[in-house]
Amino acid sequence: MAQLLDGKALAAKIYDKLAAQVADWIAADRRPPGLAVLMVGDNPASAAYVANKEKACAKVGILSFSEHFPASVTQAELAQTIQRLNQDDRVDGILVQLPLPGTHLDADALLLAIDPAKDVDGLHPYNLGRLVRGESGIRSCTPAGVMQLLAEYDLSLKGKTAVVIGRSILVGKPLALMLLEQDASVTIAHSRTADLAAVAREADILVAAVGRTNLVTADMVKPGAIVVDVGINRITDSVTGKSRLVGDVDFAGVAPIASYITPVPGGVGQMTVAVLLQNTVKSYCQRFGI
Ligand code: NAP
Repeated sequence: MAQLLDGKALAAKIYDKLAAQVADWIAADRRPPGLAVLMVGDNPASAAYVANKEKACAKVGILSFSEHFPASVTQAELAQTIQRLNQDDRVDGILVQLPLPGTHLDADALLLAIDPAKDVDGLHPYNLGRLVRGESGIRSCTPAGVMQLLAEYDLSLKGKTAVVIGRSILVGKPLALMLLEQDASVTIAHSRTADLAAVAREADILVAAVGRTNLVTADMVKPGAIVVDVGINRITDSVTGKSRLVGDVDFAGVAPIASYITPVPGGVGQMTVAVLLQNTVKSYCQRFGI
């Protein structure tokens, strides 16, 4: 039976460390780090993510500067807000909660408007470019969270075959580059991959970042593989009738043959928020030369 890669436990460790650092700065009369989250519209999932981020900030002593806009907000208003936050000395990190509602807003243009030094989501082309070049910089939260989780369990990637299912700019592509940085041989699979099961079975490390319940089944997993489930899907439980979160991996089928596996919830999702706060603190340290 696979050992769980416990994102909740590692996130708690990260929060404790960050809280101690922030407390030291405040005791030394420094200002606390600040994070601004821009949310547009009333998507309940986005609202829940933003609330989680604010709660996590409060836990470690990071100040939240959240801005909530109606879905009718214009591109210009959002761009002006970002410019203002870029100049605001109390703010070390800015993120735009995605996806944006409707079709009138250009998310890419907004990401581009964020000062790369405050781009704590690591999605600005400058920071993505540094990742491609293998240079240090702010790394995007979910892939960086996966890498920290693997490191926490001393799982060496050198020379291993990694397969990442999903090629989004948010998760799949940056994660593939981070795995490559750690000397894994990486394949990126996607919706046009021929014989996904055969590709997945090659993996020593298999990552699912798609958004489809039960996409990865036991027959697609090499015995002893490390399985990382990034997917978050809300389903209605057929027995209880209640809604709950599941990943992309058939956990009950795959856990008996994998060596390590992330649970959903309690795995990668917890790490994403923890890395967001780490990135905010990193940006703060860079601003103050700490
Ligand atoms: P996305 O932008 O929709 O990308 C999904 C990727 O999956 C695409 O590359 C797509 O391929 C691929 N795909 C779709 N159907 C497939 C299939 N049948 N076989 C193989 N590949 C398939 O999604 P995302 O933003 O990367 O997010 C992926 C999942 O991770 C979602 O469930 C999301 O909620 C979750 N997520 C979790 C966290 C976290 O903190 N845990 C953070 C971010 C996202 P094409 O490119 O060919 O279309």
